[in-house]
Amino acid sequence: MNGEHGKPNDASARLTAVQARIRAASEASGRPQGSVRLLAVSKTFDSAHVIAMADAGQDAFGENYLQEALDKQARIADERPALALEWHFIGPVQSNKTRQIATHFAWVHSVERLRIAERLSAQRPEEMGALQVCLQVNVDDEPSKSGCTPAEAPELAVAIASLPRLALRGLMAIPAPREGFDAQLPAFERVKALHEAIRERLMREAPETGARFDTLSMGMTGDLEAAIAQGATIVRIGTALFGQRKAHAG
Ligand SMILES: *Cc1c(COP(=O)(O)O)cnc(C)c1O
Repeated sequence: MNGEHGKPNDASARLTAVQARIRAASEASGRPQGSVRLLAVSKTFDSAHVIAMADAGQDAFGENYLQEALDKQARIADERPALALEWHFIGPVQSNKTRQIATHFAWVHSVERLRIAERLSAQRPEEMGALQVCLQVNVDDEPSKSGCTPAEAPELAVAIASLPRLALRGLMAIPAPREGFDAQLPAFERVKALHEAIRERLMREAPETGARFDTLSMGMTGDLEAAIAQGATIVRIGTALFGQRKAHAG
């Protein structure tokens, strides 16, 4: 599948193959079946690709760029009004985009600052349920990468837990790329340990949030096995499902 911009009619075979990878990885690490959720990352792929993947049985989709996502959602609602999809925002959140994100997504994985969390909470529409959020952690402390530092994460989690229209569900991380399962394990292990420490602190200081702080959003096409071995509950998969991406236009 390398170098191929996947056609919509590959959807079913690609989805089955990714589900098999998730199942095998879960089994290999003694995780119960069904404990890892697949988020299909559809950035740069059009509505036809999303619809084909939905028809193959996938219901949750992740997007990085707000305008692209809104256009795609509108087109899908138009073409297939009965299709109920769950949309997750996984890209950097700019503060002038928080209202649209709070209105058009069920989840945001990429919260990294309190200001952004406050705006998302204030702008989440009354008639919608709480916005499900993860705190993004820059687990390798890479200077140019998104996410709060591991050291900042506990305080930030406690502060976000007090926001009324958000449900803080866990951590999201994108480790630096590394080749091979063994090399990939340590960064995911650090995220898992941080998640555990934050959950324990929340259980003391914000028990309602602590009780549902159950999400580790980590693992992509190249490292999902290592992420699952370290406890990932959501893997975010683009390339293996849709094919190689063309560069993003804007
Ligand atoms: C693009 C992207 C993915 C998917 O990556 P693949 O390697 O194509 O599976 C996952 N998470 C985030 C945050 C992304 O931006």
